[in-house]
Amino acid sequence: MPRYSIGFDPVRKSNYCHHTFTSSTNLLRCAGCKFARYASKEAQRAAWKNGHQQECAALQACGRIPPATIRLAARIYWKERRLTGDGALPHSIESLQHHWDDLDDDRKQSYAQMAIVTREYMKGSGTSIPDAKDVAYLLARFACNNHTICDDELRPKGVGIFPLGAMLNHSCTPNTMQSFTGSRIVFRAVQHIPAGAEATIAYVELAATRAERRAMLKANYFFDIDANQELCVTLVPKEVRLDDTLTLELFERRSMTMDEHDPELTCVDSDTGSGANVVRVQAEECATFSDEETEAGPSQAPAGQKNWEVKVQCWGAAFLQGGNVQNDPTTQAIAVAWRLATILRLHASASDLVSQGQLEACDMIATALQSMQDMQKHIWRMRLLEVQLRAAIECGNKWDLALDAARSLLPFYTWLYPKVWPNLGLHLATLAKIAALLDHFDEAATHAEAAAAILRITHPEGQIVQDMLRLWHDASAELNANAEE
Ligand SMILES: [Zn+2]
Repeated sequence: MPRYSIGFDPVRKSNYCHHTFTSSTNLLRCAGCKFARYASKEAQRAAWKNGHQQECAALQACGRIPPATIRLAARIYWKERRLTGDGALPHSIESLQHHWDDLDDDRKQSYAQMAIVTREYMKGSGTSIPDAKDVAYLLARFACNNHTICDDELRPKGVGIFPLGAMLNHSCTPNTMQSFTGSRIVFRAVQHIPAGAEATIAYVELAATRAERRAMLKANYFFDIDANQELCVTLVPKEVRLDDTLTLELFERRSMTMDEHDPELTCVDSDTGSGANVVRVQAEECATFSDEETEAGPSQAPAGQKNWEVKVQCWGAAFLQGGNVQNDPTTQAIAVAWRLATILRLHASASDLVSQGQLEACDMIATALQSMQDMQKHIWRMRLLEVQLRAAIECGNKWDLALDAARSLLPFYTWLYPKVWPNLGLHLATLAKIAALLDHFDEAATHAEAAAAILRITHPEGQIVQDMLRLWHDASAELNANAEE
């Protein structure tokens, strides 16, 4: 089955080949466009035949690097033209769903504009230009069928469309995961799949609440995991607008389906003692369309400068006593809403600071974590801890702080991911490495062993498995030596 892939811009500090997607410290740069990089002369020659000839001319004429999806769209047309001589799309791509009729006008407009940019870009190659409408449909197909190509540590390095891989369905409890060997997509079972059972993958981040996953899937893949759930009848909330970006929504009863851990992950007990004791927070970005290179998963905060709004949802008849909202439970819910909104803003600002390498992020996160002491299992605490871990490692080599954050994150990872899952294996590896660095050999050995057990399934060829086996061995040796002293 053919596949099509394209690398992200190398300014993202990556060092992988644009043809083989393998990493190398010694990449050859294309003398023409000065953009494409290759691990070898052979890779460069193969890429040239595989579409870079047209791409190189287009990039030089364009004078800037268009987003990866636009380059991928052009690449597909060029490749098909080279193979069959006509400018149509390959059948394997054309048969993928584009959900055009489900798109809202903004999204249609965006794809139409991107199609214009794609056609302008393709003009530089001197080849024939596809119809604008066809290009827009292709870009819509990308949105619900593309895979982000990641390295073994889940760092994105490109984007690809894999027609066969696009046929796997989503499950919130998937039995299969995808990974990449070079530019090839590989699916691996993460548990026993009985004969005849369907293999499923996760289309969205699993470290999220059911409501978050549902919203992501509806917006990007046009299906509703709760379409048949009785609870999801639309309830009309009473709204209390607290400021431009913060709204309290009061429901008579619970308005959504929840997963096993959702009550702990999303609810704040406002302790009214009157049955009106559940508050749930949801941050929504106003701008829904984003390029895949900046796309934030649910585990990332909406960036500080983006337009976003916070909705805090409460349910319980007590909120609506006598039809008015001027009562004690509501006053308490308002206090919680302000607190959650402050936490979300601190999280967004801290994430921005970490991206710029600013250690001040740590203080901001500490302040936010302080105000969450009564919400130990809330998902926003997990997201703060993730930023704290990054800040501690990337901005300041603060290893004690990093170890604390990594330890506090582990329960979240074990709740939210399947027992065998890359994110869990990689987190255990991080924890093992930090523990070893601080001479906590007992902890290092335990986590390295657990990490290796998962990663040998999820990344059987990965260097990280060898690293973890060595760390387990070394930490155990240190422990034995200490015991003998
Ligand atoms: Zn070039």
